[in-house]
Amino acid sequence: MNYKNFPMVSKVIFGRGSFNQLNEVLAPKRLGVNAPFIFLVDDVFKGNTWLTSRISLAYDDRIIFVPTKEEPKTSQVDVLVEDIILKSKARPSGVIGIGGGSVLDLAKAVSIMLTNKGESKDYQGWDLVKYPAVYHVGIPTISGTGAEVSRTTVLTGPDKKLGINSDYTPFDQVILDSELTKDVPKDQWFYTGMDCYIHCIESLTGTYLNTFSKTYGEMALDLCKEIFLENKLSKIEAQEKLMMASWHGGMSIVYSQVGIAHAMSYGLSYLLGIKHGIGNCIVFNHLEEFYPKGVQLFKEMKTLHNIELPEGICVNLSDEEYDTMINVALSLEPLWENALGKDWKKTITRERLKELYQKM
Ligand code: NAD
Ligand code: ZN
Repeated sequence: MNYKNFPMVSKVIFGRGSFNQLNEVLAPKRLGVNAPFIFLVDDVFKGNTWLTSRISLAYDDRIIFVPTKEEPKTSQVDVLVEDIILKSKARPSGVIGIGGGSVLDLAKAVSIMLTNKGESKDYQGWDLVKYPAVYHVGIPTISGTGAEVSRTTVLTGPDKKLGINSDYTPFDQVILDSELTKDVPKDQWFYTGMDCYIHCIESLTGTYLNTFSKTYGEMALDLCKEIFLENKLSKIEAQEKLMMASWHGGMSIVYSQVGIAHAMSYGLSYLLGIKHGIGNCIVFNHLEEFYPKGVQLFKEMKTLHNIELPEGICVNLSDEEYDTMINVALSLEPLWENALGKDWKKTITRERLKELYQKM
């Protein structure tokens, strides 16, 4: 048995208001007056001085606002990297991502591509990155994806949606300030929160489960139940607990794997551009036969929070389009193997997947 040796985030600050310490954290990491810090910030915060006024820019430091209507693309990473190289006198001192999973993934990918040659699509896969990334910091403003702790950065490329999984991907520093999540719209709170819940269910019921993943997964699942089912927490408690649920859920899958909802949601995202959180919800809602208890609870939470999911999104698809989605879903073999065991191909056929997609 060859046990996996995973890197973790090296430094983390947790606390309401801890975003105020950002400048103090960054100061010793400045490599010189010509080596700027690049702040990638979700454009939802454009004009939000409550947040941006606390980022103090010096020398050639820059804030770049990034749109998050669509999930990050390899082409978007390459454009950002080129722009940063062209406008900087020296290699940046660091890249700081402030936003949800989309911005955190962009920050990780940009920091890798500032030190590695070629295009980011060449690094989609496992352990293809050769050189350490520039110093990178992750500051989540919405909780659930676990992108703040993970060893991957999920990107849609010209021919696949796949992460850059490498030892250089995890953040060097994370700042967990739940106050930054206070204005997340309710639907988005639910979708991204359910990403965390689904990570837990897929990890805890998977064949790759081990004590490391189980302990983190159980802790995150209990927190999700407290937040989304019991409804007894104050707003601040709920925000803090969801931030930690996201962290633990991410830690759980680092050492196991996700499952069927993720495999099928990647198909939806690749073909229809449906984002990760809502896509997972749409798929998971129809997976009773695979995750009976998990789906039952999910439906209770959905009802409790009055969340309406889109329906009939696959009705007008052509056979060719179904094939594309099925190909993407089936290519994620470790996810199926985790969910159903080594013989998963006996139960999961293309016809079966098509029937499932047709219900969505
Ligand atoms: P997101 O980053 O796409 O953001 C969702 C929406 O919430 C956006 O419109 C954004 O502007 C808004 N938002 C974020 N913070 C806000 C705030 N404080 N106030 C108001 N609005 C706010 O959503 P997400 O669900 O966090 O991330 C999804 C992405 O994460 C996908 O691209 C997915 O592939 C990726 N992901 C990565 C990993 C990983 O391990 N790297 C894991 C899961 C998902
Ligand atoms: Zn996920």
